[in-house]
Amino acid sequence: MRYLRPDYIYTPRGWQRDRLLTIDENGRIAELLSQTEVEARGLRAEAEAAREPLRGKALLPGFVNVHSHVFQRALRGQAQRPVSGHDTFWSWRQAMYAEAQRLDPERLYRLARATYREMLAAGYTTVGEFHYVHHQPDGRPYASPNLMAEALLQAAREVGIRLVILVAAYARNDFGQPALKEQLRFCDPSVAAYLERVEALRELGVPLGLAPHSVRAVPADWLRAIAAYSRQHRLPLHIHADEQPAEIESCLAACGCRPLVLLERCEVLGPQTTIVHATHADQAELDLLASSRATVCLCPTTEGDLGDGIPPYRELLTRQIPLAIGSDSNTRLDPFEELRWAEYTARLRYGERRVLVTEPEASPGTYLLTCGCEHGAAALGVESGRLEPGRLADLVAIDLEHPMLQGWTLESLLDCLFFGATAEVISAVWVSGKQVYAR
Ligand SMILES: [Zn+2]
Repeated sequence: MRYLRPDYIYTPRGWQRDRLLTIDENGRIAELLSQTEVEARGLRAEAEAAREPLRGKALLPGFVNVHSHVFQRALRGQAQRPVSGHDTFWSWRQAMYAEAQRLDPERLYRLARATYREMLAAGYTTVGEFHYVHHQPDGRPYASPNLMAEALLQAAREVGIRLVILVAAYARNDFGQPALKEQLRFCDPSVAAYLERVEALRELGVPLGLAPHSVRAVPADWLRAIAAYSRQHRLPLHIHADEQPAEIESCLAACGCRPLVLLERCEVLGPQTTIVHATHADQAELDLLASSRATVCLCPTTEGDLGDGIPPYRELLTRQIPLAIGSDSNTRLDPFEELRWAEYTARLRYGERRVLVTEPEASPGTYLLTCGCEHGAAALGVESGRLEPGRLADLVAIDLEHPMLQGWTLESLLDCLFFGATAEVISAVWVSGKQVYAR
């Protein structure tokens, strides 16, 4: 057993004061004991020893970063210079492809190790790595076909972050267009070859999900096969959709329907599905997401950086579509900033304040935390996201004495974090009950 005793713990019933959190040998939360219970169990000595390290601290569930392309961290600050006279998502993509061409297993491993450390320090305890640079630059597989995935797994293991590898499928540049030279290393020759690599990773016991890249990169027969495999093995399925208007136009031209309608026809939508972005989804597409109980992963700092647009937050919320967050291109790693951007861009879109709330009287802090933790964990099939018995002990400590939080009250603490703080207030991080970071 391990013991943590902070000033406050955020539980599904709200803030609890002076509880002893016990963690079992499987890294799961066993109990949250009151002082009376501590006495009754004869745990007074353990509780006293656990007190000092977490004085002035509050515990929150660890944040879940549902969508990352870790190698894109190398572009931070490098992709702001002009590429063309009129820079857009598509000209940014050229810079990203150039970086993808430079990768080899060693470079990917080093980038991942540094970036996963940065994620942990920011309070992310789990990352969903949407991994698509699989093969050698000319498209030939490495001697071990999952060598690049193994580089990511090793980096995550060494750093101590929980990694769910979302194995991307990629087949072509666009509807009816073969892959470009720069895309060859993302591509498998067939959906069977792709699923073979997935099988090999599953045999290693690695937590994973399936990730057909997008409707433009993956043909309909692949989508059907991948969706069937995800249902058969109960694996999460993640896919980019409706990030850019050009994708919707080419889908309409090629298939006569919008991307989420195509996904519905290919039986891709379901409770195991996460749609990344959905920035330009229309009302009918949003209805499909709601009826299939899919999740939407928003990546506000990346969507801002790339000029994608502002997602239809209110329409997502009124349909009770669960929202999660991802750091995507890793241009920033800070869950408070990511979620603040969600609420702020929603305010800019609707010309109102307090958009991301589920009850008329609520402030946004509570729901932002749910998006950052619980919804993200569910999207990746990880049993974390709430501090309650039985869940994985993935958690972060907040330094209540940090100057950014000066003036907090229990009632305002979550809002103080999301609207007034950065990840600098995170003082320690645990994954499966093991401390993996301390400031
Ligand atoms: Zn992405």
